[in-house]
Amino acid sequence: MNFIGDIESCLNTSGVPFIVFDKASKIIHWNPAAHTMLNDFFEYIEKNPEGNFLTYLHTVLPPEKASHAEFLFNLKIGSIAPVFVLPNKKMGQRYLKFLSVRKSTGTRFVIIDDVTRQRVQERCLLDAKRDAENARSTSTMFLANVSHEIRTPIQTIIGMMELLSETPLDKEQTEYARQVRFSADVLLALVNDVLDFSKLSAGKMNIVSRKFNLINCIEQTVDLVSLEAHRKGLEVIIDLDWNIPNIILCDSNRLRQVLLNLVKNAVKFTEKGEVIVAVTQTTMTQNKKEIPALLFEVIDSGIGITEEQKEKLFSTFYQVSTPMQQKKGGTGLGLSISKTIISLLHGDIGVRNNAQGGSVFWFQIPLKEPENIPANHHISLDPETRFLIVDDAQRSYTVFERILTYAGFTHVAYAESGEQALKRMHEAADDKAPFDIVFIDMIMPSMDGWRLGAEIHNTPSLQQSQLYLLIPEGSAGADAKMKLLEWFNGYLYKPIKIMPVIHILEDISHPLLDVVEPLELLPLEPGDQPAPPVAHNKSNIHVLLAEDHPVNRKLLEIMLEKSGCTVQSVENGQEAVEAAAAADFDIFFMDIQMPVLGGYEATEILRNNGVTVPIIACTAGMQDMHHSSAHGMTDVLAKPFKRADLMHVLNRYFPQHFEGLEE
Ligand code: ADP
Repeated sequence: MNFIGDIESCLNTSGVPFIVFDKASKIIHWNPAAHTMLNDFFEYIEKNPEGNFLTYLHTVLPPEKASHAEFLFNLKIGSIAPVFVLPNKKMGQRYLKFLSVRKSTGTRFVIIDDVTRQRVQERCLLDAKRDAENARSTSTMFLANVSHEIRTPIQTIIGMMELLSETPLDKEQTEYARQVRFSADVLLALVNDVLDFSKLSAGKMNIVSRKFNLINCIEQTVDLVSLEAHRKGLEVIIDLDWNIPNIILCDSNRLRQVLLNLVKNAVKFTEKGEVIVAVTQTTMTQNKKEIPALLFEVIDSGIGITEEQKEKLFSTFYQVSTPMQQKKGGTGLGLSISKTIISLLHGDIGVRNNAQGGSVFWFQIPLKEPENIPANHHISLDPETRFLIVDDAQRSYTVFERILTYAGFTHVAYAESGEQALKRMHEAADDKAPFDIVFIDMIMPSMDGWRLGAEIHNTPSLQQSQLYLLIPEGSAGADAKMKLLEWFNGYLYKPIKIMPVIHILEDISHPLLDVVEPLELLPLEPGDQPAPPVAHNKSNIHVLLAEDHPVNRKLLEIMLEKSGCTVQSVENGQEAVEAAAAADFDIFFMDIQMPVLGGYEATEILRNNGVTVPIIACTAGMQDMHHSSAHGMTDVLAKPFKRADLMHVLNRYFPQHFEGLEE
C-alpha cells in the first residue's frame, strides 16, 4: 500500500470523518464517520444519482451562503473553508468545517471537523455576556438613580441639623443632634462614593477642564479635614513648591475629590504625628514626550501599608481587613474611584512607604496653564519688616518662612516656645530692632499662645509688635474672638495657607482701603494704642445699632454692652426708623449698606422725623466717610475698628460717662 493508502486505511478505522471527491465533486470514497456526519447528503445522492457535493450544498445552504460552496471546491490545499451549517436527520443541525486537499489530478481529499459543540458554547457565552452587560447597566443606572434620589433628603437632614444645632439645646439634645449629623455625613459620603462609582462604571463621568486657583483649591481642600485632624491631635502641614502656578487648567472638582480622599484617609489611618500635603512641579512622560506635571504627595505617619496590600489597594471594594480597619468604616471605593479619575486626567497614582513610618500616597497630572495668568499680589509692606514665628512644630515654621520669603521678606526668625519667644523679643527690643509682626501658635506645651499674647500685651517694651494668633481651623469660638480683640491684631487658621498670609500682609499695608470684617483681621495703625480699660459703671446710654452682618452686629453689641451701654439691635434701616418711633435713643450706630433700607436713607428719614442725637456711620468705604455728613450723619466709626476706636467715639459725645479717656 502506498502512503496515501496508509492514511486512508487509518482514517477509515478512525472516528475522523473524511470523503474523497473526484474533480467533478462526485463522491468516490468515504468512511463510516463521514456517512453518519453527512447522512442527509448520502440520502440526497441516493435520490439524485447525477448530483454531487456542490449541487447538494446549493440545495441546503441559504442563498447568501451559496458562494461558500464554490469557495470550498476552489481551495487548493490545506485551507479551511467557512463553517457550514448543514442538516443531519439523526443528529440535528451541524456546524462543519472542511479541511480540503486537492491532488493535481483534481481529486479532492476532505476531512470534516464537527465544531457544533464549540459553536453552541460560543453562542451561550455570548448570550451570557450580553445578559450580564444588560444587567450591569441596569443595576448601574439603578444605583446612579437611587443614589441621586437619596442625596437630596440627606442634604435636607444635614442642613436642618445644622439649623437645629444653632437653636438652644441642652447638653443631651446637643449630643443627639451631633450623632444624627455625624451619621448623615457618613451616609452622604457613602452615597457620593456609590454615585461616582456607578458613573465611572457606566463611563458617564465627564471631565470639565476650566481655569481655577490651584493654591486656593489645595488649601480649601485640606481645610475640610483639618478640624478632624486637630481633634485627633495631628499637625496638618501644607507644603507647596513656589514654582507651582497659581492658576491652572484642570477639572477642579475631580482634582479636589482625589486629594480630599487621600488626605481623609491619611487622617483616618494616623493616630499621632503629622499629615503633610506637599505639591511640587515636575515632569512626566506622555506619548514618549516629557511634559510639565504637578506631583501631589500626601505623607502620613500612620499605620502604613504592606507590600501585599499595595498591589490591591486601588482595586474596587478593597479594604485591609484588620480590626483597626473595621472600626474605621468606609466603602473601599475611594482609591479605585481616585485611580479612575486620575487616569481620566491622564495622570498616575500610587503609594510608597514613608521612611519615617506611615505611607505616602501620591498622584501626578499633566500641568496645563491658561494663557492669561493674572499678576501676582503686590504687597507694599516694607521688605525690611521683621517677623517672628512662634510654633513648637518646626515644619510649620519652614512653611511660614517660605511663604514670607516668597513675598519678599528676609527677616524671619523662629522661636519654638513661648518662653523662647519672650527672650527673643526682649533681645530684639534691646537691640532696637523689635519684631514688627509676631505669629503665635495657640497650642504649645508649657506657655500656650494665649498666655504668650497676654505677656506681650502686658509688657510695655514689647507692645509695638503686632500679634497674630495661629489657631486650629474652627476652634475660634465667640469667646476666643473677644479675647483676640484685646491681645491680638488678628488670627490665621492652621494649617498655614498662602493666601490668608498674603491677605494679612496686604491688609497691614493698606489698613483702611480694604473692606475687612473686623473679626477676621484687626490691623493696628502705627502708633496705635492698646485698648483702653473697659468702663464698668452702667452709663445708661441707650444705643440703637443697625447692622445687617450678624457677626459684626454681635461684635459691636458686645463691645457696647461691655462699655456699659444698653443696646437695641436691628438688621436694617427700616427697622431702625421703626425702633426710633417707638423709643428714645441717645446715639445711633448705623451701617451704610443694608438690605431693605440703607444707612443714608434711614438717617434722612430719622432727621426728617426730628431725631437730633448723634448718628454714627459704621463703614469701611472711604467714599462713605465723605458722604455720610451730607446725609445727616454725625460721625464715622471706620471699619475695621477696635474697642479703643469705639470708646473714642463714645467719649466724644458722652465725655462725662467715659472720663479718663483721651480723645
Ligand atoms: P475606604 O477608606 O472607604 O475604605 P479607600 O479606597 O479610600 O476606601 O481605601 C481602601 C483601603 O486602603 C482602606 O480601607 C485602608 O485599608 C487602606 N488605606 C487607604 N489609605 C491609607 C493610609 N493613608 N494608611 C493606611 N491604609 C490606608
